[in-house]
Amino acid sequence: MLKSIVIATRNKGKAAEFRDMLSPLGIEVLSLLDLPEGAAPDVVEDGETFAANAEKKARAAAEALGRPALADDSGLCVDELDGAPGVYSARYAGEPSDDARNNEKLLRELAAIGAEHTTADGVAALSPARFVCALALYIPEQGRTIPAEGAVEGAIVPEPRGTGGFGYDPLFYVPGLGKTFGEAAPEEKHRVSHRGKALLELAEKLKHEFGGRL
Ligand code: IMP
Repeated sequence: MLKSIVIATRNKGKAAEFRDMLSPLGIEVLSLLDLPEGAAPDVVEDGETFAANAEKKARAAAEALGRPALADDSGLCVDELDGAPGVYSARYAGEPSDDARNNEKLLRELAAIGAEHTTADGVAALSPARFVCALALYIPEQGRTIPAEGAVEGAIVPEPRGTGGFGYDPLFYVPGLGKTFGEAAPEEKHRVSHRGKALLELAEKLKHEFGGRL
Protein backbone atom coordinates (compact mmCIF):
# COMPACT_ATOMS: atom_id res chain seq x y z
CA MET A 1 0.00 0.00 0.00
CA LEU A 2 1.48 3.31 -1.08
CA LYS A 3 -0.30 6.27 0.51
CA SER A 4 2.28 8.99 0.52
CA ILE A 5 5.47 9.88 -1.38
CA VAL A 6 8.06 12.57 -0.66
CA ILE A 7 9.65 14.12 -3.75
CA ALA A 8 13.36 14.60 -3.00
CA THR A 9 13.53 18.12 -4.44
CA ARG A 10 13.43 21.72 -3.28
CA ASN A 11 12.46 22.86 -6.78
CA LYS A 12 8.86 24.20 -6.68
CA GLY A 13 8.26 23.66 -10.41
CA LYS A 14 9.39 20.04 -10.30
CA ALA A 15 7.38 19.33 -7.14
CA ALA A 16 4.25 20.74 -8.82
CA GLU A 17 4.76 18.59 -11.96
CA PHE A 18 5.08 15.46 -9.83
CA ARG A 19 2.06 16.37 -7.71
CA ASP A 20 -0.08 16.94 -10.83
CA MET A 21 0.72 13.50 -12.19
CA LEU A 22 0.69 11.40 -9.02
CA SER A 23 -2.24 12.90 -7.09
CA PRO A 24 -4.83 11.32 -9.44
CA LEU A 25 -3.55 7.94 -8.27
CA GLY A 26 -4.70 8.80 -4.76
CA ILE A 27 -1.16 9.22 -3.48
CA GLU A 28 -0.38 12.13 -1.16
CA VAL A 29 2.61 13.99 -2.64
CA LEU A 30 4.92 16.08 -0.44
CA SER A 31 8.28 17.59 -1.29
CA LEU A 32 11.27 18.60 0.82
CA LEU A 33 9.75 22.11 0.79
CA ASP A 34 6.96 20.76 3.05
CA LEU A 35 9.44 19.31 5.57
CA PRO A 36 11.86 21.00 8.00
CA GLU A 37 15.22 22.09 6.52
CA GLY A 38 17.84 19.40 6.87
CA ALA A 39 15.24 16.61 7.12
CA ALA A 40 16.97 14.90 4.18
CA PRO A 41 20.72 15.02 3.46
CA ASP A 42 22.32 16.80 0.49
CA VAL A 43 23.54 14.20 -1.97
CA VAL A 44 26.61 14.40 -4.23
CA GLU A 45 25.47 13.51 -7.75
CA ASP A 46 28.55 11.54 -8.74
CA GLY A 47 26.88 8.58 -10.50
CA GLU A 48 27.84 7.62 -14.06
CA THR A 49 24.22 7.39 -15.18
CA PHE A 50 21.04 9.38 -14.65
CA ALA A 51 19.47 6.28 -13.08
CA ALA A 52 22.31 5.86 -10.57
CA ASN A 53 22.02 9.49 -9.45
CA ALA A 54 18.23 9.30 -9.16
CA GLU A 55 18.45 6.13 -7.07
CA LYS A 56 21.13 7.62 -4.80
CA LYS A 57 19.01 10.73 -4.12
CA ALA A 58 15.79 8.76 -3.57
CA ARG A 59 17.41 6.28 -1.22
CA ALA A 60 19.18 8.93 0.88
CA ALA A 61 15.92 10.86 1.34
CA ALA A 62 13.81 7.75 2.00
CA GLU A 63 16.21 6.38 4.59
CA ALA A 64 16.49 9.73 6.39
CA LEU A 65 12.71 10.24 6.40
CA GLY A 66 11.65 6.62 6.92
CA ARG A 67 9.09 6.83 4.09
CA PRO A 68 8.97 6.33 0.30
CA ALA A 69 10.84 9.02 -1.64
CA LEU A 70 10.97 9.83 -5.34
CA ALA A 71 13.96 11.52 -7.00
CA ASP A 72 14.84 12.44 -10.56
CA ASP A 73 17.99 13.13 -12.49
CA SER A 74 17.99 14.53 -15.97
CA GLY A 75 20.15 16.08 -18.64
CA LEU A 76 20.92 16.67 -22.30
CA CYS A 77 22.81 14.20 -24.52
CA VAL A 78 24.17 15.62 -27.79
CA ASP A 79 25.09 13.15 -30.55
CA GLU A 80 27.90 15.19 -32.15
CA LEU A 81 29.49 15.55 -28.70
CA ASP A 82 29.35 11.79 -28.02
CA GLY A 83 26.51 12.19 -25.52
CA ALA A 84 27.93 15.18 -23.60
CA PRO A 85 27.03 17.03 -21.42
CA GLY A 86 24.98 14.05 -20.11
CA VAL A 87 25.14 13.65 -16.34
CA TYR A 88 27.24 16.85 -16.21
CA SER A 89 24.47 18.95 -17.81
CA ALA A 90 23.86 21.20 -14.79
CA ARG A 91 27.55 22.03 -14.33
CA TYR A 92 28.78 21.78 -17.95
CA ALA A 93 30.44 25.23 -17.81
CA GLY A 94 31.57 24.77 -14.18
CA GLU A 95 30.06 25.46 -10.78
CA PRO A 96 27.91 27.13 -9.65
CA SER A 97 25.47 25.92 -12.28
CA ASP A 98 24.66 28.69 -14.81
CA ASP A 99 22.19 28.14 -17.68
CA ALA A 100 23.50 30.99 -19.89
CA ARG A 101 27.12 29.85 -19.60
CA ASN A 102 26.12 26.22 -20.22
CA ASN A 103 24.28 27.21 -23.41
CA GLU A 104 27.22 29.30 -24.62
CA LYS A 105 29.61 26.44 -24.02
CA LEU A 106 27.35 24.01 -25.89
CA LEU A 107 27.26 26.27 -28.97
CA ARG A 108 31.04 26.87 -28.71
CA GLU A 109 31.82 23.13 -28.60
CA LEU A 110 29.55 22.39 -31.57
CA ALA A 111 31.02 25.30 -33.58
CA ALA A 112 34.55 24.04 -32.83
CA ILE A 113 33.84 20.74 -34.59
CA GLY A 114 31.83 22.35 -37.40
CA ALA A 115 28.73 20.32 -36.51
CA GLU A 116 25.81 20.56 -38.93
CA HIS A 117 22.48 18.78 -39.07
CA THR A 118 19.11 19.22 -40.77
CA THR A 119 16.04 18.04 -38.85
CA ALA A 120 13.40 15.75 -40.39
CA ASP A 121 11.18 18.80 -40.91
CA GLY A 122 13.95 20.75 -42.65
CA VAL A 123 15.22 23.04 -39.88
CA ALA A 124 18.93 23.95 -39.99
CA ALA A 125 20.46 22.68 -36.75
CA LEU A 126 23.84 21.62 -35.36
CA SER A 127 23.28 18.12 -33.98
CA PRO A 128 20.63 15.61 -33.02
CA ALA A 129 20.15 15.50 -29.24
CA ARG A 130 17.85 14.13 -26.58
CA PHE A 131 16.77 15.05 -23.09
CA VAL A 132 16.72 12.10 -20.69
CA CYS A 133 15.03 11.85 -17.28
CA ALA A 134 15.50 8.99 -14.84
CA LEU A 135 13.16 8.57 -11.88
CA ALA A 136 13.64 6.37 -8.84
CA LEU A 137 11.05 5.64 -6.18
CA TYR A 138 12.71 4.06 -3.15
CA ILE A 139 10.46 2.17 -0.72
CA PRO A 140 12.38 1.75 2.55
CA GLU A 141 10.15 -0.96 4.13
CA GLN A 142 10.81 -3.15 1.09
CA GLY A 143 14.40 -1.98 0.53
CA ARG A 144 13.76 -1.64 -3.19
CA THR A 145 13.67 0.88 -5.99
CA ILE A 146 11.04 1.26 -8.69
CA PRO A 147 12.80 2.94 -11.65
CA ALA A 148 11.38 4.72 -14.71
CA GLU A 149 12.93 6.61 -17.60
CA GLY A 150 11.79 8.95 -20.35
CA ALA A 151 13.48 10.68 -23.29
CA VAL A 152 12.56 13.20 -25.96
CA GLU A 153 14.37 13.46 -29.29
CA GLY A 154 15.24 16.83 -30.79
CA ALA A 155 18.08 18.89 -32.21
CA ILE A 156 20.33 21.73 -31.08
CA VAL A 157 19.69 24.94 -33.03
CA PRO A 158 22.49 27.49 -33.67
CA GLU A 159 20.80 30.33 -31.76
CA PRO A 160 18.51 30.45 -28.70
CA ARG A 161 14.79 30.62 -29.55
CA GLY A 162 12.16 31.62 -26.98
CA THR A 163 12.38 32.61 -23.33
CA GLY A 164 10.28 29.88 -21.69
CA GLY A 165 11.42 26.89 -19.66
CA PHE A 166 14.89 26.65 -18.17
CA GLY A 167 18.34 25.20 -18.83
CA TYR A 168 18.94 24.23 -22.46
CA ASP A 169 15.27 24.72 -23.50
CA PRO A 170 15.88 27.66 -25.92
CA LEU A 171 18.42 25.57 -27.89
CA PHE A 172 16.38 22.35 -28.00
CA TYR A 173 14.19 22.09 -31.09
CA VAL A 174 11.50 19.39 -31.20
CA PRO A 175 10.33 18.48 -34.74
CA GLY A 176 6.94 17.19 -33.49
CA LEU A 177 6.23 20.60 -31.93
CA GLY A 178 7.84 22.68 -34.69
CA LYS A 179 9.47 24.84 -32.00
CA THR A 180 12.07 24.82 -29.25
CA PHE A 181 11.12 24.02 -25.67
CA GLY A 182 11.95 27.70 -25.01
CA GLU A 183 9.08 28.62 -27.36
CA ALA A 184 6.64 25.98 -26.06
CA ALA A 185 3.95 26.61 -23.44
CA PRO A 186 4.57 24.63 -20.21
CA GLU A 187 1.71 22.13 -20.88
CA GLU A 188 2.95 21.67 -24.45
CA LYS A 189 6.44 20.83 -23.21
CA HIS A 190 5.15 18.61 -20.42
CA ARG A 191 3.11 16.46 -22.84
CA VAL A 192 6.19 15.37 -24.81
CA SER A 193 9.05 15.95 -22.38
CA HIS A 194 11.46 13.43 -20.93
CA ARG A 195 10.14 14.20 -17.42
CA GLY A 196 6.51 13.86 -18.50
CA LYS A 197 7.19 10.50 -20.16
CA ALA A 198 9.17 9.16 -17.20
CA LEU A 199 6.37 10.15 -14.83
CA LEU A 200 3.81 8.47 -17.04
CA GLU A 201 5.84 5.25 -17.00
CA LEU A 202 6.20 5.43 -13.22
CA ALA A 203 2.47 6.13 -12.79
CA GLU A 204 1.69 3.06 -14.96
CA LYS A 205 4.02 0.88 -12.87
CA LEU A 206 2.43 2.13 -9.63
CA LYS A 207 -1.07 1.49 -10.95
CA HIS A 208 -0.02 -2.00 -11.94
CA GLU A 209 1.69 -2.76 -8.60
CA PHE A 210 -0.62 -1.03 -6.17
CA GLY A 211 -3.70 -0.61 -8.44
CA GLY A 212 -6.49 -2.22 -6.43
CA ARG A 213 -5.15 -1.04 -3.09
CA LEU A 214 -4.28 2.59 -3.71
P1 IMP B 1 18.64 18.08 -12.67
O1 IMP B 1 17.95 16.84 -13.07
O2 IMP B 1 17.74 19.05 -11.96
O3 IMP B 1 19.94 17.82 -11.96
O4 IMP B 1 18.99 18.86 -14.04
C1 IMP B 1 20.15 18.64 -14.74
C2 IMP B 1 20.39 19.71 -15.79
O5 IMP B 1 19.96 19.21 -17.06
C3 IMP B 1 19.64 21.02 -15.61
O6 IMP B 1 20.38 21.94 -14.84
C4 IMP B 1 19.54 21.52 -17.04
O7 IMP B 1 20.73 22.13 -17.44
C5 IMP B 1 19.39 20.22 -17.82
N1 IMP B 1 17.97 19.89 -18.00
C6 IMP B 1 17.29 18.84 -17.46
N2 IMP B 1 16.00 18.84 -17.84
C7 IMP B 1 15.86 19.93 -18.62
C8 IMP B 1 14.74 20.50 -19.30
O8 IMP B 1 13.60 20.02 -19.25
N3 IMP B 1 15.01 21.63 -20.00
C9 IMP B 1 16.24 22.20 -20.08
N4 IMP B 1 17.30 21.74 -19.46
C10 IMP B 1 17.12 20.60 -18.73
